[in-house]
Amino acid sequence: MASSTARTNPLSYLTDQLNDLKQKGTYFKLRVLDDEQAPVCTFDGKKVINLASNNYLGLTTHPKLREAALEATRKFGVGSGAVRTIAGTMKIHMELEEKIARFKNVEACVVFQSGFTANAGTVSALLGKDDFIISDELNHASIIDGARLSRAKIKVFRHKDVAHAEDLLHEIRNEPGHKLIITDGVFSMDGDIGILPELTALAEKYGAIMMVDDAHSSGVLGRNGRGTIDHFNLHGRVDVQVGTLSKAIGALGGYVCGTRDLIEFLYHRGRPFLFSTSHPPSVAATCFAALDVLEQEPERIEKLWENTRYWKKELGDLGFNIGGVNTPASETPITPIIVGDGRLTMEFSTGLFKEGVLGTGIAFPTVPEGKARIRTIMTATHTKDELDQALDTLKRVGKRLGIIG
Ligand SMILES: *Cc1c(COP(=O)(O)O)cnc(C)c1O
Repeated sequence: MASSTARTNPLSYLTDQLNDLKQKGTYFKLRVLDDEQAPVCTFDGKKVINLASNNYLGLTTHPKLREAALEATRKFGVGSGAVRTIAGTMKIHMELEEKIARFKNVEACVVFQSGFTANAGTVSALLGKDDFIISDELNHASIIDGARLSRAKIKVFRHKDVAHAEDLLHEIRNEPGHKLIITDGVFSMDGDIGILPELTALAEKYGAIMMVDDAHSSGVLGRNGRGTIDHFNLHGRVDVQVGTLSKAIGALGGYVCGTRDLIEFLYHRGRPFLFSTSHPPSVAATCFAALDVLEQEPERIEKLWENTRYWKKELGDLGFNIGGVNTPASETPITPIIVGDGRLTMEFSTGLFKEGVLGTGIAFPTVPEGKARIRTIMTATHTKDELDQALDTLKRVGKRLGIIG
């Protein structure tokens, strides 16, 4: 007979840690969207101006993308039924990869389930325990996880410090292992652009592999949103280009671009590719249609940058710290409002929400301690009226909390 002694909850340490977050004021509840991802939408029953999404070009609700998803669903059903290497490669998957490769001006492309799996799966497949990864300290978590999974030796350089990166490469110049230099194209928390030309030159000098994660640059920088490699005209010099289909592209997915052999290798060794089911046909068709929209509607990107310039100028004029002093200066539609203290940041975010503006507070460990912020992201579809209304609210709540004078 089983004893009736009460078993102590082995997960009680999680409750302790959650209580700790509540004490610190950085505990959060998920905000739930009731309608579409749009510049003005309804979260938790409240209509707000949305400054928090990565929907840079408004493609989440674009009629052509919506129609492409519906048509693919009617024709091909809702699921792919298997991982790519077993029975889950549909014609639409191959067509999307070929289209992205042409767009990016590379030989070949492989699509993963997300940008996260593209990074983690690629870094961990390319390198092993005798190899080295030279990585910017502010690179995305998916790169860090991929680096850890690879068991390669990880050398982290200070943010965008090319001299430091070179020191690290110099120290290991006689080591036989492969070396990979990796940087974000646009850094997701500060909105600054990576030092691609400098790092690419270093990769050439030291015989290292050059890899760029263009998640926040796809659809934003370069001709028709081709990303930072196009922005800096580094075609043919960056070995591994990662991008996402989940942000400006409006749907879901990640991709890796490079030589045919790189892509074939990832078909054989990229673990998320081998062990996780491929996209439903609707997602692949949506992304395919999005690339057409990038080519056909360049005015979206122009409007995104016009809104971005206006937004940064007005926020700065109000006296907010929008980066550039003890944090990197944003050069893209990501504009942080640096508050510093985590608790005050969360109060600011809550205050804004109550008055009709969604600006997500981001604190440690996502950003360094003492550099908590509201991260705002501009889109092409915000109207000037909406921006002015949001600025008004930011000013009022910011003054009330003593964030601006
Ligand atoms: C968002 C992001 C990713 C992950 O992309 P998903 O498609 O959302 O998984 C990877 N790298 C960077 C820099 C990102 O900002």
